[in-house]
Amino acid sequence: MAANGTIQPPSHPSDSKPVQISEVRQTNTRENRTAAHSHIKGLGLRPDGYADTASHGFVGQTAAREACGVVVDLIRAKKMAGKAVLLAGGPGTGKTALALAVSQELGTKVPFCLMTGSEVYSAEVKKTEALMENFRRAIGLRVQERKEVYEGEVAELTPEESENPLGAYGRTISHLVITLRSSKGTKKLRLDPSIYEAIQKERVRVGDVIYIEANTGAVKRVGRSDAFSTEFDLEAEEYVPVPKGEVHKKKDIVQDVTLHDLDVANARPQGGQDVMSMMGQLMKPRKTEITEKLRGEINKVVNKYIDQGVAELVPGVLFIDEVHMLDIECFTYLNRALESSISPIVILASNRGLTTIRGTTSPLAPSDPGLISAHGIPPDLLPRLLIIPTHPYTAPEIRTIIQTRARLDPEALDELTRQGETVSLRYALQLLAPAGILARARGSEGNVISGGDVQEATSLFWDAGRSASQLREKAGDFIS
Ligand code: ATP
Repeated sequence: MAANGTIQPPSHPSDSKPVQISEVRQTNTRENRTAAHSHIKGLGLRPDGYADTASHGFVGQTAAREACGVVVDLIRAKKMAGKAVLLAGGPGTGKTALALAVSQELGTKVPFCLMTGSEVYSAEVKKTEALMENFRRAIGLRVQERKEVYEGEVAELTPEESENPLGAYGRTISHLVITLRSSKGTKKLRLDPSIYEAIQKERVRVGDVIYIEANTGAVKRVGRSDAFSTEFDLEAEEYVPVPKGEVHKKKDIVQDVTLHDLDVANARPQGGQDVMSMMGQLMKPRKTEITEKLRGEINKVVNKYIDQGVAELVPGVLFIDEVHMLDIECFTYLNRALESSISPIVILASNRGLTTIRGTTSPLAPSDPGLISAHGIPPDLLPRLLIIPTHPYTAPEIRTIIQTRARLDPEALDELTRQGETVSLRYALQLLAPAGILARARGSEGNVISGGDVQEATSLFWDAGRSASQLREKAGDFIS
């Protein structure tokens, strides 16, 4: 900040390529993939590490929850380097829910990235590249800075015209005057014209509560006060003489991003934000955006920030479901990535027993079954894994899990428990949404699902087993 209280334009460190942290838009669009687990709030363990039968949204699976609790302790004690966890058990036995709960136990801002093994097979991106992207989605960076900021509610925004004679031919704005009102009184700040852009970009209006960083001039809208509703016409206002400003207060500003967020933000072409250039960006193929070189540069700057104490790494959880779908090349990559100094906690899941490791069969020897291994995982990775089994649920457990997820009459609960036992818990839970819609459609009071709603949903939506048996019985009705 200059001595006269004028806020100077943002300055970039000249010794390194600037990495945009304040511009990062988080890319956690995958959150909706964990929507089926919104009832899970943690592992539900007591202080002595034992699991209550039903707690934090979890019901049963107590041994696996307790084992996951030990994993959380190992992570906290930094004793998981080079190791990973494998959750092994049948479909719908809570493997994803357990992995999510581990990340919740580690902290609310700890990234959780969920992928399935088959996702790596895409025509656009190399398999190892897809894995690398997910690794970086699961590594957080917490940037914390104590900054001098001006904070308050915008009472006035006024452009100050230049005294330069050129100003006679058009409006040349030399400064922007902003009047901030706070509980401590009113302050007028004289801002550099470059901040005018930041004010426009953030769409700051009179009545908004904002803060302006004293050193960089970064402007942030933090809310809106309803006290003012009139829009301010910047062009029409008159010049207001400005007294010297002084720093209003110091504020700790914390931003949580992932390394992938940084990759995406910095891969974006620099330049205009107009509609045409944004359209241009949309038309460009995404795959060329994030290069190994860019990641390297970002790592360097991140390491510098960490050394300076400005940022802290927050390793999150990378959950790879259906891990048996990865091939030998991916497993080799995974083995190496686990050794890296910047690695998330890797939790693998498989519902397979002994099976062929993908990529070990040869098209030249079709009868060769390839290399068979537990869960389709190569023998050199298996010894690095802490294997936690998950077990099928008992009928009372299924009943309790279902009961906590919707408003059901006793008949509906009996019917869903039966489906959970005979088909699968996942199928029973999947029936809840359509049965709920049917209950609403018939005007059920309080949207309580009845036995009839469940039966109707069961007749409308088949489970996989029924679908297969119908295919066998009515094979003639289908094209083969
Ligand atoms: P798959 O092998 O098919 O991927 P999974 O073992 O990962 O299955 P989840 O997806 O975790 O199973 O569980 C299926 C559903 O049941 C989810 O909605 C999950 O939150 C819920 N669920 C599973 N186990 C429990 C439990 N012990 N308590 C409460 N809810 C559970």
